[in-house]
Amino acid sequence: MSVFVTGATGFLGKHVVNECLEKNYSVIAAVRTQDKGDALVKQFNNPRLTTVAIGDLEKLDAFEETFKTHGKDIKFVIHCASPAKWDIDSYEKDLLIPARNGVLGILESIKKYAADSVERFVMTSSFMTLTDFSKIQDSSVTFNEDSWNPTTWESCQTDPLSAYAGSKTFAEKEAWKFYKENKDIVKFKLSTVIPSYIFGPQVFDEDVHEHLNASNETINQIIHATKMEDISPLSTQCCHVRDVAKSHVLAIEEENLANERLFVTSGAFDVQDILNYLNADFPQLEGKIPIGSPDKAVEHHPPGAVVDNKKTRELLGFQLRTLKDCIDDTTIQVLKHEGRL
Ligand code: NAP
Repeated sequence: MSVFVTGATGFLGKHVVNECLEKNYSVIAAVRTQDKGDALVKQFNNPRLTTVAIGDLEKLDAFEETFKTHGKDIKFVIHCASPAKWDIDSYEKDLLIPARNGVLGILESIKKYAADSVERFVMTSSFMTLTDFSKIQDSSVTFNEDSWNPTTWESCQTDPLSAYAGSKTFAEKEAWKFYKENKDIVKFKLSTVIPSYIFGPQVFDEDVHEHLNASNETINQIIHATKMEDISPLSTQCCHVRDVAKSHVLAIEEENLANERLFVTSGAFDVQDILNYLNADFPQLEGKIPIGSPDKAVEHHPPGAVVDNKKTRELLGFQLRTLKDCIDDTTIQVLKHEGRL
């Protein structure tokens, strides 16, 4: 019996595949093209990993063939695939439609061909699905596992970040709606993993390039900044990729995680926190990157809405890594790649 992992070529997806293989599962990894599948198999070099090419998520039948052929052998599904980028041409075509169709397509294919074999379905959501951006400054508001972003298909199409938030919100809502309507037909139980901004190393050092995936690029940009003007302001929550991957795999295993929204976040940060850790922990960056205003470091949530994931921390039962771990682990890999460590 296998775990089917989508988005397996991505930053998070490779960690999920890695965690599954380390726990001795057989993994069928969904990739966009067979070339990407061949490269993934070569990287992992593990006989328990096979791949299937599914094409683009926007096609509602992208998963039909896979579940028709392998459905009876798949016990767990971890759906990580979704567009996670901001340099896009069309909000609908590049973000909203593939995110929504991806989840609808995979759920329909499971219902059709693997209703009796798939026992758990875990999908990657985003903390943007539980954030109401109009209330971010409101200290009387709490964002937790019960919160939802009130965005609409039309209102989110103003800028790439809002459209991304919309894409994740509609995809997660579709999953819960499908589950509610089909609970008596499909065997699986649903959980969603809701990470904040994900930092951390790539599984393979060879995946470190000049530019990293969208979230890690924040740290990469600061490692290479020479003045404050090079750094885009950012203040949000973050978590470590290994904790996120571990949460996905626990969610296919543990009964107490079924039917839950698991909000994985280690805490708040802003770019000053990143500067402080880089300047304190990496002497080779001293004098090369700005120091900013160290006395203004926050490492706590700035005044405004309360972010609370106490319930998830208790459910998961393991200690989430710290902001320092997130920043240092990412930086170590980049500096090693550049021969500076
Ligand atoms: P990533 O590296 O860009 O990975 C995205 C994965 O999804 C890749 O395997 C990609 O395939 C696949 N994918 C994207 N659009 C697709 C499409 N239209 N058709 C087929 N496959 C498609 O991003 P990531 O950071 O690992 O994100 C993984 C998941 O975590 C996403 O669901 C994302 O929304 C969620 N998430 C990420 C963060 C973060 O800070 N990174 C935070 C919260 C949630 P290719 O490799 O072929 O492009």
